[in-house]
Amino acid sequence: MGGSSKIDSSEYTDLNRVIRWFIGLRWAAAVGVLAALVFGHVSIRYSFNFTVLYVLTGILVLMNSGFALYYGRIKRGNLSRKEMGIFFHVQICSDYVLLFLLIYFSGFLNNPFIFYFVFHIMLTAFIFPSRVVFYYVLALVLVFSLFMGIEYGTDFGLFFRGLAGLRPVEIPGQSVLFGLSLLTTLILTAYLVTRIKIRIVERGKKIEFELNRYKSLDKAKSNFILQVTHELRGPLAAVKGYHEMILKGITGNIAEKTGDTLKKATRRTKNLLTIIDEMIDYAYMKSEDEVHFTKIEIDMHDIIQNNIEYFENLAQERGIKLVFSCRKNIKVYANRDLLNIIISNLITNALRYSKPDSKVSVNGDEGGDEVHLLVRDEGIGIEEDELENIFEEFYRTRKAREIERDGTGLGLSIVKKAVDSLGGRLAVYSELDKGTSFHIYLPKT
Ligand code: ADP
Repeated sequence: MGGSSKIDSSEYTDLNRVIRWFIGLRWAAAVGVLAALVFGHVSIRYSFNFTVLYVLTGILVLMNSGFALYYGRIKRGNLSRKEMGIFFHVQICSDYVLLFLLIYFSGFLNNPFIFYFVFHIMLTAFIFPSRVVFYYVLALVLVFSLFMGIEYGTDFGLFFRGLAGLRPVEIPGQSVLFGLSLLTTLILTAYLVTRIKIRIVERGKKIEFELNRYKSLDKAKSNFILQVTHELRGPLAAVKGYHEMILKGITGNIAEKTGDTLKKATRRTKNLLTIIDEMIDYAYMKSEDEVHFTKIEIDMHDIIQNNIEYFENLAQERGIKLVFSCRKNIKVYANRDLLNIIISNLITNALRYSKPDSKVSVNGDEGGDEVHLLVRDEGIGIEEDELENIFEEFYRTRKAREIERDGTGLGLSIVKKAVDSLGGRLAVYSELDKGTSFHIYLPKT
């Protein structure tokens, strides 16, 4: 825990969690100790110096209150690494001293609770590096040996009172054997926990390394998709344009059959363009993952209107009525690309999964500190058991696959990602063969 550098916020959150955990454990320990003391005092009537033991428990409570108060002041992250280290050392040291005194004044080696030191060693090994754990165990072993020497090797066993009825059977040297087993248990615990911790940390590093490698591969893949789809989009849009020119008769008259075939070709080209657009959005969202999306003030009415105008022809071709309502001056502070991705994908789906002569409506509204976007259709709907899956990448419902071969299953996962990036939330309601409505709520600021 050396150095005085600042701790980054995620590490600080982790340390905060450990401190809260320590404080909680200490409260539990205080209650446990008090209950054991009262029981030993009133029911079993041990011959300990209970005044000392109650005072020690009082000190434990006071000390933990102090830690809790101090924690309240520092939890917002204003301690350096070094100060945080000191705070941990103070807690661990006080715990060791108090536990030692409590055990010492209640039978010392004859008190079976002496093995609770194992938990302390585990906690120490959990937070401190091996070297520091070694010093703690060494100090503990020395203190134990010293007091064992005094109690069993000299006539100066000043405070020691054996637990009534738990006095060891008089085998020569048994106390020494017990002391040795205790000390080796403590040392082995420290060693094992430290080794396990080192292995966990090593594994964690390996996983992190693999994860980063995977992330950069994933990014390379997204960039590749982005480049390829961009390259494909240009020529395909040109092909569509030429088809439309021929269909409009600009290049001369065409036979009826040729016209029909060309119309089919145009429809498929448009589908292909939609798929390519979805893939571009998908790759864009992925490649922009770590980039901060710049936000500007956007008028909901204008952005919805632009999208409606863009999809008007497609709606007409499919015989679907596309309407929108949104009053002017509903402002949202968002990223224009992301908002366009959300609206266009939802309209594309609504048109794709609606029947002719039905209606698709887009509404913009505001309420509280959110704006509300609603895209509603009267299309095929989604079965209840499939509803939770539709935001997964590449997921397409059974019904959608039946009626519409083309589709990537990416649109809604892109929408979800975009809504998340804007700090918003979404909800979907659907009834089979009646229609579907997607609600998007975005924070205004
Ligand atoms: P796709 O390319 O298949 O449209 P999406 O991710 O956009 O992919 O949507 C996932 C699935 O959710 C679709 O395949 C479809 O089954 C269902 N879905 C999305 N929008 C609607 C809608 N408006 N009506 C009915 N089903 C929808």
